[in-house]
Amino acid sequence: MKKGEERVVSHFCTSYFILPTSYFLSMYPVNEIFYSLQGEGFNTGTASVFIRFSGCNLRCAFCDTEHESHTMMSLPQLVEEVMRFPNAPLIVLTGGEPALFVDNELIKALKMTGKTIAIETNGTRPLPDGIDWVTLSPKTVFQGGKALPCVLTRCDELKVVYTGQDLSQYDSIVAKHRFLQPCYVDNPRQRIAGLQATVAAVLNNPTWRLSLQTHKMLGIK
Ligand code: SF4
Repeated sequence: MKKGEERVVSHFCTSYFILPTSYFLSMYPVNEIFYSLQGEGFNTGTASVFIRFSGCNLRCAFCDTEHESHTMMSLPQLVEEVMRFPNAPLIVLTGGEPALFVDNELIKALKMTGKTIAIETNGTRPLPDGIDWVTLSPKTVFQGGKALPCVLTRCDELKVVYTGQDLSQYDSIVAKHRFLQPCYVDNPRQRIAGLQATVAAVLNNPTWRLSLQTHKMLGIK
């Protein structure tokens, strides 16, 4: 046994692992963990366990996510919560900005569940290895503070909240799939106008596809 390791035997999905001490010491600020359908982008409709981390390094004017409150959770607690949904194929790390908190230990621990690991990130922070699906949603509209550059250059899906911006600014990002998503606003008239503008943008730029926040239409989380 290496120094710093404890021979703690655990089993997930009938496999056995030796867990490092950091597995028990690392703590993460978690806003909520819930089971629902992925509502947006390529994996729309996929049953997923969402881990929402608390806190973000941006202040987008259109942010509609309540992520400020949190509970500090250990990796064993996180894994236990995720395993309450054994049939869910997908874990979605979201926020806030999950890349402020996810690290190699967390990804290794979640891998033990046997589920696919996805992350939704604004791209301002590098990611640890081992994440199976990266949804990059760079933000170009900020409120207060200075704009942070997007440091990620590759992703599985690029999902852009469309507010009429020049799409050529995303040309250098390598992505398997490109989605434009209308910005959700409460005002129904503005919402329809935003949807129409996004549809028009996709028709004019057909390498992009339309993404809708279907969970909001369905009234689910
Ligand atoms: S990056 Fe996402 S979570 Fe952060 S402020 Fe912008 S919309 Fe909200």
